[in-house]
Amino acid sequence: MFVSPSCFTANGRRYRIPETPVLAVCADGWDPAYVDDALTRGLMPRLSAVIAAGGLHTHARAQVPTFTNPNNVAIVTGVSAAHNGVAGNHYRTRDGTEVQVTDPGLLKAETIHAAARAAGVGVLCVTAKDKLRRLLASGEVPSFSAEKAHEQHLPDGTEVIAAAGLGPNPDIYDWRLSPYTIDLAVALGVRMGARIVYASLTDFVQHTAAPGDPLADSFYRAVDVSIGAALEAGFTVGLVADHGMNAKTDSDGRPRIQFLDDALTAAGVRSAHTLCPITDPYVAHHAALGSLAWVHLDDPSERSRAAGVVAGLEGVEAVLDRSAAAAAFDLPPDRIGDLIVLGDAGTVLGRSAAGHDLSQLHGALRSHGGLHERRVPLIISHPVAAAGLEGRELHNRDLHDLLLNHTALAVSPHPGSTRGTAVTGSTAMTSATAA
Ligand SMILES: [Zn+2]
Repeated sequence: MFVSPSCFTANGRRYRIPETPVLAVCADGWDPAYVDDALTRGLMPRLSAVIAAGGLHTHARAQVPTFTNPNNVAIVTGVSAAHNGVAGNHYRTRDGTEVQVTDPGLLKAETIHAAARAAGVGVLCVTAKDKLRRLLASGEVPSFSAEKAHEQHLPDGTEVIAAAGLGPNPDIYDWRLSPYTIDLAVALGVRMGARIVYASLTDFVQHTAAPGDPLADSFYRAVDVSIGAALEAGFTVGLVADHGMNAKTDSDGRPRIQFLDDALTAAGVRSAHTLCPITDPYVAHHAALGSLAWVHLDDPSERSRAAGVVAGLEGVEAVLDRSAAAAAFDLPPDRIGDLIVLGDAGTVLGRSAAGHDLSQLHGALRSHGGLHERRVPLIISHPVAAAGLEGRELHNRDLHDLLLNHTALAVSPHPGSTRGTAVTGSTAMTSATAA
């Protein structure tokens, strides 16, 4: 690895070491509709103010499948799933074993934070959902979760919550967990002298409440207060979502689901195993139902017939085989299915009717995973220089590049003067559009 006093390299990209701290936020499930609504109605005055003062507000493209782990890992490695190896929250090995993607041994690329730490830069990762903590801790990066903060300690033995000077951590299904995660990241980052801090939120609110819902309003107001505190603490803040979010219901509010194993069995396909890569421990969010599924076929001769059966289901908008999907979406072929099935904007894909417990959902089904949750908001609190970004399509995995290499970093607790030509989001760069 190349190291110099002013920069470090991770996965082939050089990053500048910031002189003032940066906070990169993965805003879980922040469909652009929430941000546009919150900014329009004045729910986020701090964010509005930094955008008005020259900060960046644009859209970026997320990694498909538009699930949490693949996109968090893309953001922290700066490279696509084809390079970092994480294509789902969950996957099936060649021998048929299903594995939850929490082991850092599954990462095929180092994280930006691990590379920075190896170069002597203070780093910190704080995640709302504990399921991500081990992945983020890869390379001995100090990592904590808001969910389990009450059980965690700093390297010097101090209890994490006491060290941060915060009250008790909210429950995983409490809307206050995400703003608490930002507060925890800022407090610990200041205490530990970290220069590059990553905070990953949770999408419980977005799975539960549509834009404009009172719960969503409370959430965005509280997050704005936490972002304001980060700015006051001297952080340059960059924020990007891992994926969008859509209602997956019919006009009566009933979930629109296609159960693929049920359909395949009924059509006489005998060797199919559907895997829902959204599967994680937080079933009240989504009942393990998202708009993308893998189908594994133990008998390869059944592949084309299975593809035909699934493609004929209402609400299925595309079926690709393994190699076509790997090429189309930058995916690692060994971590996906023989078939990749995409639901349309309003449809989710499940395994079997008996295999998903819809009674645990907290409200109408809202979820993600397909192409319609691929466009995400990208916000940087300070002006971003256009040089080197002309014509480039931005991805959420570019967040650290934008923050560390293209942003006029804060030199005081308040946004200061900037150099060069700034971009404002719509002109110089190619914003991602909905697929
Ligand atoms: Zn997510």
